[in-house]
Amino acid sequence: MTAEPTGAPREPRAEADEREVSQECRAALEHLAELLDHAMADSDADVLRAHIEACDPCTEAADAEEHVRALIRRACVEKAPSQLRVRIVSQLVVRTSR
Ligand SMILES: [Zn+2]
Repeated sequence: MTAEPTGAPREPRAEADEREVSQECRAALEHLAELLDHAMADSDADVLRAHIEACDPCTEAADAEEHVRALIRRACVEKAPSQLRVRIVSQLVVRTSR
């Protein structure tokens, strides 16, 4: 076994901390759902979108979120049971035949 020299220069801890999610990124990720739902004020959405476009981790997160949403949307469409359709159509018929 080799003893590691304790005085060797290593990655300073402060630098690693700085690379963690910044306040801006945390805010962006927090409001990502609102942004994708178009549930934000336009001015806020613009700021958020500008940050996401300029920030790689946030771009990835936004892409992933959109991808998941697309999958869910598709899954929902595919899983819509025909019984439900029949029910909706019959209700429409009842309503329009009055
Ligand atoms: Zn970011």
